[in-house]
Amino acid sequence: MKYVRFIYNGVERYGALAGDRIRVAEGSPFTSYFMLTSEEIPYESAKLLPPAPFSKAVCIGLNYRDHAEEFGLPVPETPVVFLKPSTSATGHDSTIVYPEMCHRLDYEAELAVVIGKEAKNVREEDALSYVLGYTIANDVTARDLQPKNGQWTIAKGFDTFMPLGPYISDEVKADTLMITSRVNGETKQKSNTSNLIFTVPYLISYISHVMTLLPGDIISTGTPGGISGMHKGDIVEIEIEGLGVLRNTIG
Ligand code: MG
Repeated sequence: MKYVRFIYNGVERYGALAGDRIRVAEGSPFTSYFMLTSEEIPYESAKLLPPAPFSKAVCIGLNYRDHAEEFGLPVPETPVVFLKPSTSATGHDSTIVYPEMCHRLDYEAELAVVIGKEAKNVREEDALSYVLGYTIANDVTARDLQPKNGQWTIAKGFDTFMPLGPYISDEVKADTLMITSRVNGETKQKSNTSNLIFTVPYLISYISHVMTLLPGDIISTGTPGGISGMHKGDIVEIEIEGLGVLRNTIG
């Protein structure tokens, strides 16, 4: 299924993408009640929201070898982990706000794992049973603020710095997906999730031994090499095989 969260006629609901239409659901895929109804609406008439209303987005730094190399950093022996606040979330086709205090704003194309049920002290071999599906994240970064702060909360935590979407799919496997980013149509990053240093099951197990992962929480698995800056008016697109295209404008 391809899960979407959207606003239509002023009402927020979940549904399932079916071609150019959305089948409206009752309940939520993050609770025990989720049921598709017979009501359908055109996809184009819905405003998509971030498909997972996360309490925390747990993000992994330096999880592709070529991205560590472009910073001249060694490949980490344990995952580099940071959090984005829930207020950083925004949806497909929305605006990423260029902050006044930032002078270099970067995209980072990332595969995001969406947690479907509470996960604590999960074993690696059981980890995938806690996953609802996968979506696309853009780990937007105020690059010039990152080294200044010693840690990454400020550089990564502005409102609208976590575009997610357009939908969550449970129809893909995470380990061999093409991942691409484009700015104004020009390809910037091109890699494959087979290049992840720490795999999805490893990350779920590792993180769940530190903090309980709640339904709707996100693990953003890191970005490949090829990062660069964006400017106001730019259109940034991230495409992952089987997960569609996440498109945002810089404003
Ligand atoms: Mg990142």
